[in-house]
Formats: sequence, structure tokens, C-alpha cells
Amino acid sequence: MIEGMNSMTVAAYAAPAPKAPLVKTTITRRALGAHDILIDIKYAGICHSDIHTVQGDWGDRVYPIVPGHEIAGVVAAVGSEVTRYAVGDRVGVGCFVDSCRTCDNCRAGLQQYCTGETGMIGTYAATGRDGEQTQGGYSTHVVVDEEYVLRIPDSIPLDTAAPLLCAGVTLYSPLAHWQAGPGRKVAIVGLGGLGHLGVRIADAMGAEVTVLSQSLRKKEDGLRLGADHYRATSDPATFEELAGTFDLIVNTVSADLDLDAYLGLLRPGGTMVQLGGPEKPLAVSPFALITHRKSLAGSMIGGIPETQETLDFCAEHGIAAEVEVIEAARVNEAYERVLAGDVRFRFVIDTATI
Ligand code: NAP
Ligand code: ZN
Ligand code: ZN
Repeated sequence: MIEGMNSMTVAAYAAPAPKAPLVKTTITRRALGAHDILIDIKYAGICHSDIHTVQGDWGDRVYPIVPGHEIAGVVAAVGSEVTRYAVGDRVGVGCFVDSCRTCDNCRAGLQQYCTGETGMIGTYAATGRDGEQTQGGYSTHVVVDEEYVLRIPDSIPLDTAAPLLCAGVTLYSPLAHWQAGPGRKVAIVGLGGLGHLGVRIADAMGAEVTVLSQSLRKKEDGLRLGADHYRATSDPATFEELAGTFDLIVNTVSADLDLDAYLGLLRPGGTMVQLGGPEKPLAVSPFALITHRKSLAGSMIGGIPETQETLDFCAEHGIAAEVEVIEAARVNEAYERVLAGDVRFRFVIDTATI
């Protein structure tokens, strides 16, 4: 027990300004409070949201920003009143590190949809309860309240577990909510970091899974990951032949898409869930929705209980992310490669190299 342990200076990679390359720096982590855990970060995934945020796609932020909300590591110290975790435990942190804790959503374990005054407090680029800006996982250590820490099952290596903390739960949540399962036809649009986990999870849930990718370049991978079908969206025949066939379409694409064309692939009564966050507003014809009572929905990550459920589900089904582990100094190159679609399927920073 190290309650009151002083704040510490730790190494990190930060974006100093919008669109500027990330640079090595040091940041301060707060002193360990009674309910806090000090985590020795081992791996941090690179999510496309990190790139949107530091490039300013999602509006102005305060810089420098240390991105990273797919954090996997080991407990290094615990505050005096921590009950859930002990030194040496394998743990993770996802997209938020706090919330109001009292609104209906927080009470229901849907902290990502917190409607309280604080809202969901992001793992980085947000204002923490102490008034300081939160800084994320491209770093050697982080201090987080135990209520916002997840347990990583022993069977999942920490590098392949890290992406489950954002990408994994972001797919698990809508697939569970809209009941992907036996007898249901599910399309995953975009085979990137989110999409490849969507294929694995939807397949493990028992759905019939189709990947809709820009080309057939990753077809072998998609089928190996568990897809039953793989179609190129650059081929107009895809939209003719698959018209009216899916119960659920999950759109993980980070760029603008012709949503009407994809809505045409839904069965009457079907739902398309938007997960990607392109900069521009979405455009949809009302008739693409009203003519067959179709729904266009959105979904954001998952709450603490559902994130734990995702980790446990993945352990039970022997699934995790496919990752390319990189040294921290290659983070800018990795960003370029994500933007160019050149990643199979998630970059993960080995934080020992920071
Ligand atoms: P990613 O690894 O870059 O994957 C995105 C995929 O979208 C690419 O692999 C590519 O798939 C497809 N794509 C990219 N550009 C495209 C274009 N111009 N036209 C058509 N398809 C294109 O990114 P990610 O980390 O999975 O994140 C995807 C999006 O979800 C981002 O916008 C991210 O911010 C957002 N996100 C949302 C949540 C949430 O809670 N809702 C959580 C995390 C991330 P193919 O090569 O197969 O076509
Ligand atoms: Zn993310
Ligand atoms: Zn709340």
C-alpha cells in the first residue's frame, strides 16, 4: 500500500499540436489516491480515434495530447482502500477513466453514456476530477481509479488483449445489443482494427458473417478470422446481389460512405449501426429508411461491465486482436500506415521502448 505516494514523472509520446508528429516527452501522473491503482503499462494499441483526435478531426483540443486508450499492463501499486486488485494483477484501461457515477447510465454500468455534469471522462484529452488534463496510454505508467480498471484474463497475452479495451468492446456491444447470433446475417463494413474483431466476435456469437471491404486484398485474412463471405464494395455487383439480405450491418469505416447504398443491403426492419467517426456529417435519404422500416443507429464503446464481459467472452472463445507490435519511435510511421489502410490489423506500442 502506497497511498499518498508522490506524483511521478513518466516518459510518454505526445502530439504537441494538431497534425504535428508525436514526440517523446515526460508527463506527470497524479499521486496515488486511496482508490487508485498505479499501472505499469506494457502495451498500448493505436486506435484510429487517436489519429482523428490529434489531427483535430473532432474539434479543438488542448495540446500536448498523449493518446492511447487501449492499455494493457500490470498493477505496480495500489491505494490504501483498493479492494479489487493487487500488485501483479494483469489489468487494462479503455476509453474512459472516470464519469459522474450517479446518473442513471452510470448506475446502470453504461458509463460511456454518462449524462452527469462531468460526462464520461476520456482517458486522454479530457479534464479529470482534479482539473488536470488526462493523458493516455502511450506512456510507461498511468494512475486510474480501480472502478475504471478491467481484469485481463490469464489466457490472453497482454499485447493482443490491449485492442479489446476499445476496438473489442466497440464491436461486442452493438453485436450483443442487436442480437448477432445463430440465424442472423451480419455484415461488417471495413476490415481494420475494429472490423477484424467484429468478424471474430460475430462469428463466435454464431452469426453468419460477411465482410464488406473496399477490395478483395484481405479476403484470405477475413475468411481465416471467421467470415463466411467476403465481398468488395468497389464491385457494383455486390450491392445488387446482396440487396435486402442483412439483419444487421456494422459500419466501422473511418471515412465518408454512401450510406444509402449500404441501407439498401438491409432486410426490411434491419439495422445499420454507425461506429466510424468521419469528420463530415452523415448524409442519408429519408426513403432509404422509411420504405422498409429500417434503422440507422450509433453505438459508442461499452461500459465497464460490458468491457469486462468482452474480455471474458474473448478468453472463453480463444479470440483476441491480431497485432503488429512496434517500438514507440515508429508511432508516426504507424499513423501513416493506418491512414493508408496498411495494417493487419492493429498496431500496438511496446511501451518498454518509450
Ligand atoms: P482502421 O483500423 O483504420 O479501420 C478502418 C477501415 O475502414 C479500414 O481498414 C478500411 O477497411 C475502411 N476504410 C478506410 N478508409 C475508407 C474509405 N475511404 N472508404 C471505404 N472504406 C474505408 O480504424 P479503426 O481503429 O478500426 O476505427 C474505425 C473508425 O471507428 C474510426 O473512425 C474510429 O474513430 C471509430 N471508432 C469508433 C468507436 C466507437 O465507439 N463508435 C470506437 C473506436 C473507434 P477495408 O480496407 O477493409 O475497406
Ligand atoms: Zn479507440
Ligand atoms: Zn454519469
